[in-house]
Amino acid sequence: MTVTDAPAQATFTSTDPRTGEVVGTHPVHTAADVDAAVARAAEAAAWWAGLGFDGRRTLLAQWRRALVRGLDALARIVVAETGKPFDDARLELVLAIDHLDWAAKHAEKTLGRRSVSSGLLMANQAATLEYAPLGVVGVIGPWNYPVFTPMGSIAYALAAGNAVVFKPSELTPGVGVALADSLAEIAGGRPLFQVVTGFGDTGAALCRSGVAKIAFTGSTATAKRVMAACAETLTPVLMECGGKDALIVDGDADLDAAADAAVWGGMSNAGQTCVGVERVYVVDTVAQEFTDRVVAKTRALQAGREFGPMTMESQSAVVKGQIDDALAKGATALVGGAGSADARLVEPVVLAEVPEDSTAVTEETFGPLLVVNRVPDVDEAVRRANATGYGLGATVFSKERGAEIAARLRCGMVSVNSVISFAGIPALPFGGVGDSGFGRIHGEDGLREFTRSQAVARQRFALPIAVTSFRRTSAGMGALLGLVRVLRGR
Ligand code: NDP
Repeated sequence: MTVTDAPAQATFTSTDPRTGEVVGTHPVHTAADVDAAVARAAEAAAWWAGLGFDGRRTLLAQWRRALVRGLDALARIVVAETGKPFDDARLELVLAIDHLDWAAKHAEKTLGRRSVSSGLLMANQAATLEYAPLGVVGVIGPWNYPVFTPMGSIAYALAAGNAVVFKPSELTPGVGVALADSLAEIAGGRPLFQVVTGFGDTGAALCRSGVAKIAFTGSTATAKRVMAACAETLTPVLMECGGKDALIVDGDADLDAAADAAVWGGMSNAGQTCVGVERVYVVDTVAQEFTDRVVAKTRALQAGREFGPMTMESQSAVVKGQIDDALAKGATALVGGAGSADARLVEPVVLAEVPEDSTAVTEETFGPLLVVNRVPDVDEAVRRANATGYGLGATVFSKERGAEIAARLRCGMVSVNSVISFAGIPALPFGGVGDSGFGRIHGEDGLREFTRSQAVARQRFALPIAVTSFRRTSAGMGALLGLVRVLRGR
C-alpha cells in the first residue's frame, strides 16, 4: 500500500464549552498508533533512566522554567477547552509547576540507593534498597483539571525515571498536546513524554499496550473498565476516581471561614472538582448562623463570572436530576432550585435538610450544588461523612478538635480550617479509598508509585554456621535455635 492509498486518519475536535466554537482538531489514535508511541517511549525511557537523578533534575528544572514562561499561553488553552475562568486555569498551573519542582528535587532522596539494617541474624550481609523506574507509564486523565490532575502522575513518573504516554480526555486534547510539546522542545525532541488523543478506545488501547503501569484519573465507572482491560496483561494500575467529600462544621468553628470554604469548595470550577465540597454537616448549635452565611456568599456569585459552564454538556442533566430528586424527597432549596440546571451554565444551588438517601447525598454531583444538613453533634457528622462508598478527601472546621475529627474520617486527605489545601502541598500523598480508588500521587508515596523496589543483600563475610546449605549440621541448627531463644523468645 502506498502512502496515498493509506486510509486517512480519523480526527475529532475539541470545542469551547462557553461558545461551542472549535478549539482544535486532533487525530483519533488507533491501537497501532498507541503501540508505536509506547515502543518509541521505551527507547526514551532507557535514555532517561541512564541520565540518573542529576541529569533528570536538571532537565525537569528547565521544563519547570519553560512552563512558568508559557503559563499564560497554556492557561488560555485550558480556558478554551474547559470554559473555566482564566485565573482558575492559572492557579491550576501554578500548583502543577510546584509539584513538578518538588518531584524533581525529592526523587533522589526518596528513591536513591540506601543501606538498611540487615538485622542481627543476618549481620554478615550488607542490605541496600533502591527504587528503580518501571519503564513506560501510561497516564489517562480527566478534563476538569486537565493540567494539575494528570501532572500528579506525569511529573512524578518522569522524576522517578520513566517515560510517559498520556491520553488526555477527549474534551481537553489541546491541553495535553501543549503540555507534551513544552517538554519535547527541552528534551531535544526525544519521545520522553508523548500524547495520544482520541476517545475511550484510545485509552483502552493504552491499557493493552504493554506499558509498565497505568495511572488513571477519572470516574469510578471508567476505572472499573480500565482495570478489567489492564487485568488481561496483569498491568498494574493506580486509580484516582471520584469523591463525595464532606465538610464538617463543629460548634466552635470560625463560621465565616467555614462558610467561605464551603462555598469555594463547592462552587469553584462549577463544582467539577474531585475533592470539591459536596456535602456539609453542621452541628445544630451553629447551623442557622453558618447557613445564613453560606446563603449570602452563594447569592453573591454569578454563574459565568466566578465559574464557567459544565465542561461536559451532559453533566447539567445529572445535576438537575439530583436537585429534582432531593426536592421530591423533601429537601429545602435555600439558593436556586428546580430550573437552576436547565442550561449548560448551571446556577449555584444550596439545598438544606436533604434526606441522606437522595442522590445529591449518595452520588458524585460534579456541579455547583451544595448540600447543607444539620446534625446533633460531631459524632453524627463523622458517621454521615463516612457513610458513602467514596473516600477521597474531607474538610473539618473546628478550633479545638480538628485533628481528632480528621483522624476519624475514612478518606485519603483532610484539610482542617481551610479547604482542599492538601492538594497544594507536594509532600502530601493524594488519593482515596473505596470507590475513590487506590494508590497515591504526590509526595514520596507518589514517587514510589512509579517504581519497583530493588532489594540487594550482599554477603560481607561467611558465617561459621551454614544453615542455607546442604552442608548444614544439626549442631549448627541447634546453635541458631539457641540464639533465637535468647534473642526472640523473651
Ligand atoms: P471519565 O471516567 O469519563 O474519563 C477519564 C479518562 O478515561 C478520559 O481520558 C477518558 O477518555 C478515558 N476513558 C474512557 N473510557 C475508557 C476506557 N474504556 N479505557 C480507557 N480509558 C477510557 O472521567 P471524566 O473525564 O469525566 O472526569 C471526571 C471524573 O474524574 C470525576 O468522577 C472526578 O471525580 C474524577 N476525578 C478524580 C480525581 C482524583 O484525583 N481522584 C481528579 C479529577 C477528577 P475520553 O474522555 O476520551 O472518554
